[in-house]
This record gives sequence, structure tokens and C-alpha cells, in this order.
Amino acid sequence: MSESASVCVLDDVAWQEVTAATMGAAAPCFQCGVCTAVCPWGLVQKEPVSIRRLIRMAQLRVDGWGEAIWLCTTCGLCEARCPRGVPVSEIILALRRLAWERRAAPKGLPTMLWAIHWDGNPWDQPPSQRQAWAKGLDLKPFAVGDDLLLYVGCTAAYDRRSQRIARSLVTLLRSAGVSFGILPDEPCCGESVRMVGQEAYLAELVEGNARRFKEAGVRTLVTVSPHCLDMFRTQYPSWDGFRPLHYTEYLAELLDGGRLSFARELPVTVTYHDPCYLGRRHGIYDPPRKLLAAIPGLTLVELPSSREDALCCGGGGGRMWLETHAGERFADLRVREAQGTGAEWLVTSCPFCILCLEDSAKVLGSEQLKVVDVTELAVRALGDGR
Ligand code: SF4
Ligand code: SF4
Repeated sequence: MSESASVCVLDDVAWQEVTAATMGAAAPCFQCGVCTAVCPWGLVQKEPVSIRRLIRMAQLRVDGWGEAIWLCTTCGLCEARCPRGVPVSEIILALRRLAWERRAAPKGLPTMLWAIHWDGNPWDQPPSQRQAWAKGLDLKPFAVGDDLLLYVGCTAAYDRRSQRIARSLVTLLRSAGVSFGILPDEPCCGESVRMVGQEAYLAELVEGNARRFKEAGVRTLVTVSPHCLDMFRTQYPSWDGFRPLHYTEYLAELLDGGRLSFARELPVTVTYHDPCYLGRRHGIYDPPRKLLAAIPGLTLVELPSSREDALCCGGGGGRMWLETHAGERFADLRVREAQGTGAEWLVTSCPFCILCLEDSAKVLGSEQLKVVDVTELAVRALGDGR
């Protein structure tokens, strides 16, 4: 069916396409509207995006969902609250796949995909610069027998701000005596490809990458970004011993094992922003807090919305590659929440969150509030002159 004003016209092709794409995932929805009520877009736009209506259209296999499907950050807040367990963001990704088939994807996304195809990263940077983040660190290629493969990911490899996170993580791993290596020609995990709905290309990327990791003998793989972690945990095939971890989980294991400790006191008050892809997606709430709690002198105050209820920064779901207008950035709200806690540092553990929150802190003139990654704080607390 297609919809014109209040009249719906039957359209068998659309019916079949939406049926095939969503595979009945919207069926359990009973239209309570909780998803629309909790969606952060309702906090930044006069007219909230009616997620309930989108789900109803998917349920009825009705066409005509328009621009709304590109707004979703796949933060998962609606799914966490939905009484019927409807996988809202998966339905939205399915509708994005259909939009590509109909050549209705927003401007800018094809360019990003071509950048991954030709250069292996969505930042449109040359492959020759993939290891620029590690300049002077004397890292070695991963070898069988190493404790882990450090998977840096495109953002921490190319974005200058995020490179500091990867470098801090290297310092922490070395401080704990971990043997690790990198892939000198590290491939893109494909997260941005999945988020914009290019499923066929994604399958090709995942298959090739998984083969490479497996042939290289990778077992424990530690990511900088929760988005890469989500890819390795949910989209890649598993093989014997394959254990993808976020760095906060691995560092927390090192703390528990007595291999990592913080000797230097940091008498600061911090608050912690839970990245959606670490928290709601994978339930990783305690490891970052455990790391913060292990820093002597540090005081953690929680944000008004945290853990399962945390407000999204706005950078997920492919939104990094789309324009978000001033006044519509979730990160502005998050920075204001952080200011209200009285914390001096807003800490998080995701490169996308860092970029969004730091931008908002600058725009809001919030110089007193520093935005940092857990690794950056932890390195300061090592107490060996850094
Ligand atoms: S919260 Fe769940 S059941 Fe309620 S309208 Fe949204 S998708 Fe449907
Ligand atoms: S996943 Fe987040 S952004 Fe997307 S519809 Fe749900 S609450 Fe809104």
C-alpha cells in the first residue's frame, strides 16, 4: 500500500518488499506509543518523530516512511522500554535497506560507502595513513601467541582527537605487561555500512575480514570502539576461542588479576556517560565504573539518566555521516546534564561519544567541563611520571 493524505492504496510490490525486509519483526507491536514517548528526538524537535507510526507502517507493510528512518541513532532506548520487545532499530535498518533499493538514501552516504570501498575507512583518509595514530609507539604486528589483537577501528585510527584514546590504551596495556599486536593493514569492521543499510556490501566485508582474523590466529580481540565491538559480537561468525571484548572489559579483567593498578591520586569529581553500544546493547555498565573506582581520590557522580536509561549522544546509527542541525543535538542535553552534576570531567568510553560530547561542550561554552575517555584518565593515574 502507499499512503496519500488519509487514503491508502494497495501496492503489492511494496507489501512484498516490506514483508521480506522486516520478516514480521513489527508484528508484536500493539501501538502503545512508549517508543515515541521515550525517543530522544522528542526532546530536540517540536514535532517528535512518531516511531510508533513507523512501526505501524512496517507492521501493515505500508510504504512512505520518508526521512524519519534516517533520524534513528539506534540508541535502543525504545527497545529497552517496549513492553512487547519489538526490535525497533532492526526494523528501521531494514527500511533503510529498502530505501537504498529505491535510490532514496540521503546525500553523503554514497560518498561514505565509496570511501570504505576504495580506502578502507569512512573518514575518506588514505590507507597509507592507517597507522599514523601509532607514530613513535613501536607497535608490532599481531602474532599467534600474543595475549590479544588490538583492533583500533577507523575512528581512533584517523580522527586526531580519537587517536589519543588508542595511544592511551597502548600505554595501559604495556603498563600491565600485556603482549599484543595490531594488523598493519587493519580493515574497517563495516559498522557504518550496516548502519546505513547496505547489507550486500556488508556481507562481503564481514566474510573477508572474518577469514583474515581467523587465518591470523586471532582469539581475544580488544576494540577501542563499542560500535566495532557490536559488529564483532553480533555480525561476525564465531570461531574456536574467538573472544571480542571492549577495552573497558579487558582492563577491568587486568585490575581483577592484579596486573593493572593506579598509584597516582586524582582528586577530581567525574561523571560517566554510558555509550548506547556498550551499555544497552551489551550490558557493559560495571567495567568502566570499576576502572574509575580504582583511581585513588576520584569521585564518581552519576548523571540523572544512566545505565539502562542513559541518554544517547546522537552519534550512533550512521548519524556521524549525516547533518544534525544546531539545537537538535542530543549531546547538548547530555553536556547540560553533566554540568548539573557539578563534575569537572565528563568521562565516556566511545570515540563517537567523545566527538559528539566535546563538540557540544565547545558550542555551549562549557570550558570548565573536560570531556575525556576512560583510558585518558586511567593513564594519568598510572603514577609513573606521565
Ligand atoms: S513501544 Fe513497542 S509495542 Fe509500544 S508502540 Fe512502540 S514498538 Fe509498539
Ligand atoms: S533507537 Fe533511539 S533514536 Fe531510534 S527510535 Fe528508538 S529511541 Fe529513537
